[in-house]
Amino acid sequence: MDSQTLIQIEEQFGAHNYFPLDVVIHRGAGVWLHDVDGAKYMDFLSAYSAVNQGHCHPRLVARMREQCEKLTLTSRAFRNDQFPLLLQELCELSGFDRALLMNSGAEAVETAIKAARKWGYTVKGVEAERADIIVGTNNFHGRTTTIVGFSTEEQYKEGFGPFAPGFVTVEYGDIAALKNAISPNTAAVLLEPIQGEGGIIIPPHGYLEAIQAMCRQEDILFILDEIQSGLGRCGKLFAFQHENVEPDGVIIGKALSGGFYPVSAFLARESVMDVFKPGDHGSTFGGNPLACAVAREALKILVDEHLAERSFELGRYFLDKLNSITSPHIKEVRGIGLMIGIELKPEAGGARRFCEALMREGLLCKETHETVIRFTPPLVIHKNDLDWAFAKIKKVMQE
Ligand SMILES: *Cc1c(COP(=O)(O)O)cnc(C)c1O
Repeated sequence: MDSQTLIQIEEQFGAHNYFPLDVVIHRGAGVWLHDVDGAKYMDFLSAYSAVNQGHCHPRLVARMREQCEKLTLTSRAFRNDQFPLLLQELCELSGFDRALLMNSGAEAVETAIKAARKWGYTVKGVEAERADIIVGTNNFHGRTTTIVGFSTEEQYKEGFGPFAPGFVTVEYGDIAALKNAISPNTAAVLLEPIQGEGGIIIPPHGYLEAIQAMCRQEDILFILDEIQSGLGRCGKLFAFQHENVEPDGVIIGKALSGGFYPVSAFLARESVMDVFKPGDHGSTFGGNPLACAVAREALKILVDEHLAERSFELGRYFLDKLNSITSPHIKEVRGIGLMIGIELKPEAGGARRFCEALMREGLLCKETHETVIRFTPPLVIHKNDLDWAFAKIKKVMQE
């Protein structure tokens, strides 16, 4: 079926909760995607960084096939042979003591919120039903009602209230504002180390270290959402490793499965994870053997193919190139590793039209926050691919 027909069917039968580019993909390999009309595109979004390992990585295809034929789901009513090994490998790789597996990113964020509150009541001694979690402006942590309740993006919330209390919002990147928001009932600070959906916002260097010091002093958990920034995207396993910090908990998802299957996790030190007792929390699919087998292989690929290191090197190379473009539309180019954004001037007419122009040139990327074009290619990308993309970007930015 051609793309126009498929788009019509989607518009007729689907909920209109997205505004996708009109390209209908049916096949992908590495950094390349093919549409149903026979055109080929380079992927510069990686499904919001879920496909850091590249599309249809052969090792993941093989491992998923193999596991499918053996065992897919037991639920946590019983144990399975993949689950313990993923837990162990995740902890060894990340340095955290314990892991709790969920499916979507938002569920893992909810898990972190539950852990933080219960830790607040049972360990810190916060007043009953009064635990606060401090979050940042411009945050993105997912789409559940609790999570959109503390978003500062009007559209994410409008019409979906009433929302859960217990969240205090402070200006992202402003350490003094955070300090002022602390109360005896503060259980945790929950932030993205770099805001992806917010428009590739990089806080001032030393921000995370200052927060951690404050959290340690005030007996507050320091929890980072690395669902998008983690697993190599920012040139390190975790974006927080660009600073000298050891958060109490971290949330991962997206590339944890290389884009094959929804797998997310909350990783934490023992004293935090131990608040969960049997029956406190769960998920039918969380920790299933298929998810665990795929995630184990996806993590091995990350390590074997040095994807974090590649992202670090190639990100620097590409950021320098992008900074060399002279264009009347560009306000700023910023990024860490292969998480890069071009912020356009307000008069440029929005990022969407540039994304559409780039699509016509064979490069798929997506605007975020109206004026930012986000570039997050699969981390398996090569230098010559980046050079190819650069020529397209330069052309479109100078048109
Ligand atoms: C994508 C994302 C989420 C939500 O993940 P889902 O799998 O879509 O629920 C949460 N936090 C951050 C930083 C994200 O980028």
